Amino acid sequence: TLETVVIVGAGHAGGRAALLLRRHGFAGRILMLGAEPALPYERPPLSKGFLKGTTSAADMSLRSAQDWAEAGIEHIGGCTVTRIDPESRRVTLADGRSFGFDHAICATGGRARPLALPGAEALLMLRDLADARALRSRLGSCRRLLVVGGGVIGLEVAATAAGCGCAVTVLEAGPRVMARVLPPEASAWLAGLHAGNGVQIRTGVTLERVLPRGTGIAAQTAEGVIEADLGLCAIGILPEPGLVSGARHGASHGLLTDEYCRVEGAGPHVYAIGDIAETPNPVLGRPLRLETWRNAETQAAAVARTLCGTATPACETPWMWTDQFGCNIQVVGVWEGRGERLWRGAPGAPGSVLFWHEGGRPLGAVLIDAGRERRFVEGLVAAGKPVRPEALADPAQRLKSLLPSAVPAA
Ligand code: NAD
Repeated sequence: TLETVVIVGAGHAGGRAALLLRRHGFAGRILMLGAEPALPYERPPLSKGFLKGTTSAADMSLRSAQDWAEAGIEHIGGCTVTRIDPESRRVTLADGRSFGFDHAICATGGRARPLALPGAEALLMLRDLADARALRSRLGSCRRLLVVGGGVIGLEVAATAAGCGCAVTVLEAGPRVMARVLPPEASAWLAGLHAGNGVQIRTGVTLERVLPRGTGIAAQTAEGVIEADLGLCAIGILPEPGLVSGARHGASHGLLTDEYCRVEGAGPHVYAIGDIAETPNPVLGRPLRLETWRNAETQAAAVARTLCGTATPACETPWMWTDQFGCNIQVVGVWEGRGERLWRGAPGAPGSVLFWHEGGRPLGAVLIDAGRERRFVEGLVAAGKPVRPEALADPAQRLKSLLPSAVPAA
């Protein structure tokens, strides 16, 4: 008899898992349940090309409606799953429907973290296509934009809006921008790139309340009031791991899994992938929840293979990228606040790389318009073998030549 896989969360990770199950020969029923009405799509353009109007919703979708139908993948959009029960192997919806499964994949991601302040409802948020449509239509007539949160979304939207002639102010609560993923030297360089393009970045700011002002808003901080036509709140995501009965939750509020993405405490038939999954990372030696495009790809691929009979651990060297003011920034590895830093090339210049290392063992790097070096940087981080810091710092020494020969360069 044919098995049923129910995928809860029809985003990038969920959609990829469905497609790859078919590619690897899964012949049973595949049912995707999504909160959004849309079929699975990739989110990166939401804060960049989609806002600018250079990327359409169709460009972002993983497949056309016809392709999903031809692949025999069912999709129910606009629904709310309330429970994934490993014991009865049933998924329950808020409207009372329920579906039995042989295997369930929880790919629910997270939602934009709300700001708990008086008046914060006046700020837009950006997580899904509907949010991006609303922001795009409002940006058209916006001369002054206020962004709360100097993380990836905040800075990408700031760069996009500034590029369209908008005066942008970013309020960051912490001491520096993109602190979740960048070492201090890279934050400083990036803040300079924004300042050079007219974006006002204020760090260490405490927002107290948001008030209506004319057709726009006034943001009250300890230092004074900032007026704007439009406000965006981008202060991170909240993973919501509560759906899976019995599941164990990790330190970063995800669903703890084993290396095959099987949810701890939920038996052998429930998996978690993407932003919600907190999965052991062999390099760091602890569970890690990654909010990246590549993690969605890697974990979806691993679970699809495992369910098709080849047990495959989800294992990767973390990687993310962002594009701001025409500059491509890539981050390999995880910044954990430790390690010595060194620049390869003039700090922040196109082609430069900021490494962090312990005793010459590369832990990670930020690549600035240096995408061609990425696979070598990944090789160095994955190998975890010490190299001479002077060689890392010397652009005349090819990174490829520093790779231990045991590690394939690609
Ligand atoms: P983030 O975690 O990258 O940044 C949130 C920022 O808000 C942090 O700098 C934090 O210090 C700040 N902050 C928190 N509370 C605040 C407050 N009360 N006032 C002011 N600042 C405050 O999260 P994000 O930028 O909201 O992005 C959300 C998700 O989207 C993440 O998963 C991110 O990885 C993803 N995303 C990724 C990319 C990319 O990889 N290029 C681009 C856009 C979004």
